Amino acid sequence: MPLQRAIPRPTQAQQRRQDNIRELGCLLCMSEGIGWVAAEIHHLTDCGRTISQDHTIGLCQFHHRGVSHYSREQATRIYGPSLAHGAKPFRARFGTNDELLQQQNTALRMAGYADH
Ligand SMILES: [Zn+2]
Repeated sequence: MPLQRAIPRPTQAQQRRQDNIRELGCLLCMSEGIGWVAAEIHHLTDCGRTISQDHTIGLCQFHHRGVSHYSREQATRIYGPSLAHGAKPFRARFGTNDELLQQQNTALRMAGYADH
């Protein structure tokens, strides 16, 4: 049985935004000084529900899903907390949804993706 979508598929403009986010790499690895790390699209949530295809940020597999070839402890030392290991420490370190969305949109604008 296919998963039911909580939000509609991305429009062309939203797809472009998500492609641009992937090109920029993980927002947090960049701000932590780790450098470019391939990003997955994370849909920000409100009370556990995805908001929209525009409320999206780029997170690497560790920041997003806690997946790393390091142990969890080592990876947390290197990258900071993963969202998969709890929203509270993640937000305490990296900011609220609104702050993260603002950071992502600023990063897109600074990279020349003007329509964000
Ligand atoms: Zn990352």
